[in-house]
Amino acid sequence: MKIVDLSRELYHRTPTYPGQPPIIHGVWKSHEEAFVESGNVQGNSVMFFSMPDHGGTHMDAPRHFGVNGTPIDQYPLENCYVRGICLDLRHIPPKAEITPEHLQEAVKKAGVSIPKGGTVLLCTGHHERTFPSAAYSTDNAGVNVAATEWLAKQGIVHFGIDSMRPGPIGKVNSLVHKACLELDITHIESLCNLEALIGKGEFLYVGFPMKWRGGTGSPIRAVAIFD
Ligand SMILES: [Zn+2]
Repeated sequence: MKIVDLSRELYHRTPTYPGQPPIIHGVWKSHEEAFVESGNVQGNSVMFFSMPDHGGTHMDAPRHFGVNGTPIDQYPLENCYVRGICLDLRHIPPKAEITPEHLQEAVKKAGVSIPKGGTVLLCTGHHERTFPSAAYSTDNAGVNVAATEWLAKQGIVHFGIDSMRPGPIGKVNSLVHKACLELDITHIESLCNLEALIGKGEFLYVGFPMKWRGGTGSPIRAVAIFD
């Protein structure tokens, strides 16, 4: 078995979505401090973090798209452990729309079919090209509404992308989120290392969210597993 890590490293002040709170990771209690406090028996260090529920590699809960959408604590865990494929879309320029035609071509090139009830990961090369520069937060290519509808029609439960948003920045991205609610699918954002999956066929995708009550999303440790 081989596990490919598709998750961004989390660290103090790693880029977050424009307008969302920063990711804070710090020392709550140092080893030295704890050692003194515990009477020189054992000094346990503790760190703390604060982050938006859409920080780092994460899954959007349908609650993010609308007040009646399923929150992350009620999102089916079965959907977080599914078969997946990865499509090579690295030829799509920054900020451009990925269309149904692009997806169809990429599926043909990948030589595998889209697993029913599974996921499709879109490798745009955006993370590889831009992280952690300012362009990472703005310049991604992404699906348009027609491509989102096309993906949903293939019977997937979600799709994933190696950028902070599924559509290109602006109105299209907003409409893609709305379409996800209507089509009853969701998406995974800020994946990385998708290049490692290209040409490798089908894998098992695993990415469980944390159980935030009423949460609109959650960081996940996304991986692809090969037998
Ligand atoms: Zn989203």
